[in-house]
Amino acid sequence: MSASISYLTTIRFGEGAVGEIDEDLGALGISRALIVADAGVVAAGLVERVTDAVPAERIAGVFDGTPSNPTQRAAEKALDLYRETGADGLIAIGGGSPIDLAKAVALMATHEGPFDSYAAVLGGIPRITAAVAPLIAVPTTAGTGSEVGRAALVTLDDGRKLGFISPHMIPNRAVCDPELTYGMPPGLTAATGMDAISHCIETYLSPRFNPPAEAIALDGLARAVASLPKAVEDGADVGARREMMIAALHGGLTFQKGLGAIHAISHPLGGLEEPSLHHGTLNAVLLPHVLRFNEAAAPGKYAAMREVVGIAPDADLAGYFEALNATIGMPKTLSEMGLPRQAIPPIVEGALKDHSVPTNPRALDAASVKALMEAAY
Ligand SMILES: [Zn+2]
Repeated sequence: MSASISYLTTIRFGEGAVGEIDEDLGALGISRALIVADAGVVAAGLVERVTDAVPAERIAGVFDGTPSNPTQRAAEKALDLYRETGADGLIAIGGGSPIDLAKAVALMATHEGPFDSYAAVLGGIPRITAAVAPLIAVPTTAGTGSEVGRAALVTLDDGRKLGFISPHMIPNRAVCDPELTYGMPPGLTAATGMDAISHCIETYLSPRFNPPAEAIALDGLARAVASLPKAVEDGADVGARREMMIAALHGGLTFQKGLGAIHAISHPLGGLEEPSLHHGTLNAVLLPHVLRFNEAAAPGKYAAMREVVGIAPDADLAGYFEALNATIGMPKTLSEMGLPRQAIPPIVEGALKDHSVPTNPRALDAASVKALMEAAY
């Protein structure tokens, strides 16, 4: 039996939870759902886990063309299918990309005018209304937290990677079934797990006042550092998979505090067409450097994080995460990931415009972002 938790949105959590998704469609009044996925999710048989649990007439169609980083172009294609098939709601199945793409479709299907006018940095937050189409998110990785997050990150036709942010963008339901992550390979388990850890750390360090979110972030951090090495080493470790899925959810539940420098830098890096860089891997590489940079701005919080991860009060927290990265097979540097050095200046510019900048605990400017990138290079 899956647990029912209501916090920000309604979450169905537990092994086998996806078998009960028809109840969620009914509760939201969705009679024909467009499934948004990607080729990998289809190949892994995860779309079938949903379609097997729902009467055929309730599925309008399957869009499997989500790219590794969501684009406006792909969202418009999915929107065409949504309209052609007479869909009245969406089920996103996958990691952050299909979930973010489905959020963009839910917005486009119900909001007139140019898509970029709804971007957060262009003043779009108050323009997004409750009319957003109903969406059920089914995460198949344990990392992004997008299933309970209010943002969709989308690369526009002109190359800008922008955040579309509103409480109305939070999926109306999240169905979190750890069984869907059992087949995830070690590399992706590690990368998505480090994304979850970076969410817990960055939201915890954000200066916005929100003690309940901070308590959630610390609990998520504790669970993730305890279980990620186990989940990477043995993908069939049911307990570790469950812990990682709930830790990823924790990270998403605290997005309302805002993220920081790690995400400000990894967002424009993820918008590059070449090389295509994984969001979670980028965050893993950036994390130790950003931790060193921010420490002076939040010493009390660093003490709490040392306690939570189980190291001595005078131990090096950044060094702890460098060791964790090495244990789970993450690369050490951006150059190792294939980033050319000449990509750094435009990324610094993009990072400073990111919506995560204001909630980094220490002020960011061009010199500090460049120094962080050089350190990680
Ligand atoms: Zn992230």
